[in-house]
Amino acid sequence: MATRLDGRQLAATIEQRLQAVVADRLERAGRPPGLAVLRVGDDPASGVYVANKEKACSRIGITNHGAHLPADTPAAEVLNTIQRLNADPAVDGILLQLPLPAGLDEGPLLAAIDPAKDADGLHTLNLGRLLKGEPGPRSCTPAGVMALLAAADLELAGKRAVVVGRSILVGQPMALMLQAANATVSIAHSRTADLGELTRQADVLVVAAGKPRMIGANHVKPGAVVVDVGIHRLESEPGAKARLCGDVRFEEVEPIASAITPVPGGVGPMTVTLLLVNTVASWCQRCDLDQPLADLLP
Ligand code: NDP
Repeated sequence: MATRLDGRQLAATIEQRLQAVVADRLERAGRPPGLAVLRVGDDPASGVYVANKEKACSRIGITNHGAHLPADTPAAEVLNTIQRLNADPAVDGILLQLPLPAGLDEGPLLAAIDPAKDADGLHTLNLGRLLKGEPGPRSCTPAGVMALLAAADLELAGKRAVVVGRSILVGQPMALMLQAANATVSIAHSRTADLGELTRQADVLVVAAGKPRMIGANHVKPGAVVVDVGIHRLESEPGAKARLCGDVRFEEVEPIASAITPVPGGVGPMTVTLLLVNTVASWCQRCDLDQPLADLLP
């Protein structure tokens, strides 16, 4: 039976470390770290995600500079808000919560975020830094996966890794990080001819396809490490608590894998934690303090 890679527990451990980093440096910095989560409109799932991020900030001593703009806010006004946050010396991280309301193009708005304050690690410059192995904020979800693998002492050098999904948000930066850790990496996508033939070669299989329960035991080599990035809300009876599932059929794969992330409680909590890591790392840099978090920014 596989070891469960417990994202909740690791997120709590890293939060404690961040609390200590902030507390130890607060006097020298002269101000707390600041994160601005910018929300436009009322997408209900985003409301829950933003609330989780704000709660996590307050637990570790990050000041929340967030703003919530109405759904009909013109693009120029969203841009003004981003520029104001770029110029605000108390703000170390900015996150534009997606999806945006219909009619707002996320591309130019994401590009307007100061790369030094890019809490999501998705700015073109920061993706380039990842490609070149230069330090910078890292994409939160893949960096969270790397932290989970590292915490479980799972060796990656020389291992065969397969990433299912090639999005800029997850698949591509995930593949770059695994490669930087000296795994031999393949990326699968919707046009991959024989997915099972490829995934069965993986010592480490990361699934970020956004397709509920698509990966089963027939896709997995016995003894592989399986990371399930997917997250889906299942239909439930009215009034009942929403149930979640991933891209992996957990009950089928757990008996044959050597390690596996559950959904919920695997990758999801790590994504929020890495947002805090990027923000605190930016604060250290902007306040001329030492950088004690490099091991979490692969
Ligand atoms: P996208 O829809 O942007 O990308 C999905 C990728 O999977 C695409 O590259 C697509 O290929 C590929 N794909 C789709 N179907 C198949 C298939 N049948 N076989 C092989 N590849 C396939 O999704 P994201 O990367 O944004 O997110 C992926 C999942 O991760 C979602 O469920 C999302 O909710 C979840 N997620 C979870 C997070 C967390 O914190 N746990 C954070 C971010 C995302 P192609 O390029 O050819 O279309």
